[in-house]
Amino acid sequence: MDIDERIRTFDLDRLHASVAESHDGEVDRSVPEHADADTGLFGLAVCDRSGELRSVGDADVTFPVQSAVKPFVYALALVDAGASDLDEIGIEPTGEAFDAVRLESDTGRPPNPMVNAGALLTASLVAGGSAQERSDRILQGLSALAGRELRVDDEVSRSEHLSGDRNRALGHLMHSAGTLHVEVEEAIEVYARACAVSVSAETLAVMGATLAFGGRNPMTGDRVLPVEVVRSTLSVMATCGMYDGSGRWMHRVGMPAKSGVAGGVVASAPRHLGIGVYSPPLDERGNSVRGVLACERLADDLGLHAFTVA
Ligand code: GLU
Repeated sequence: MDIDERIRTFDLDRLHASVAESHDGEVDRSVPEHADADTGLFGLAVCDRSGELRSVGDADVTFPVQSAVKPFVYALALVDAGASDLDEIGIEPTGEAFDAVRLESDTGRPPNPMVNAGALLTASLVAGGSAQERSDRILQGLSALAGRELRVDDEVSRSEHLSGDRNRALGHLMHSAGTLHVEVEEAIEVYARACAVSVSAETLAVMGATLAFGGRNPMTGDRVLPVEVVRSTLSVMATCGMYDGSGRWMHRVGMPAKSGVAGGVVASAPRHLGIGVYSPPLDERGNSVRGVLACERLADDLGLHAFTVA
């Protein structure tokens, strides 16, 4: 049986039931909306080459995308720059916390687009003459990637804004280094709204699939991103996507992915599958416990690890 056939016939319910037995982890408490999350929620969705979306459990429950938005904002910034690389930002993993107040020492650039410094900058590089225009452009881009109209959760956006002191510190550092070319508050505003976009495991699966199929959304058939932009995006997800657990993740799971503190994970198995998971309890590195487990099992059972050379 080839891999796409294995994907089509895979018993997703069984995998969901076995992963649901894990009760480890703690929910994020950085904003009240996360602290109140139901720890039992667990949704899993996959979207394959034909655009078929299969899901189990709480896969249509919405939650804030948070850092899982970072690869997509990076992709949109690349599109708007007409480039597959940005001079303003590095592409090296840090091994440090996602909100570390640190820039590259020699250049004053953010180390990569998957940490907060990088995402504040990519959000400011998306086309638009104001915070509102950039936010609209991001929302419209994310909606095309997901094949459905997405919206911003204004409460979450406000909470993000209020709790964003470290992000403000990063913004001021980048502004003084000459890397950030918009006002700090404008960058914070666009970033906070991007993190507060409501998604579900199903949404993330389609977004992951759009990357897996080179920028063409397999559900709508629309080309959303150029192939070169997708290659750059998947590369930084592979090296920097799972916080400071990225090395272990790539070793174990072998798929580009990105997680967020609300408990979302988006993973992309190039040429084969997009995966979306939602489960709020996080491990000590900030990744959803059930999200990691579900992706590990999918990678093993379907042979999705990029470096499995059979
Ligand atoms: N809004 C969060 C912050 O910037 C994103 C956290 C995350 O998901 O990593 O602190």
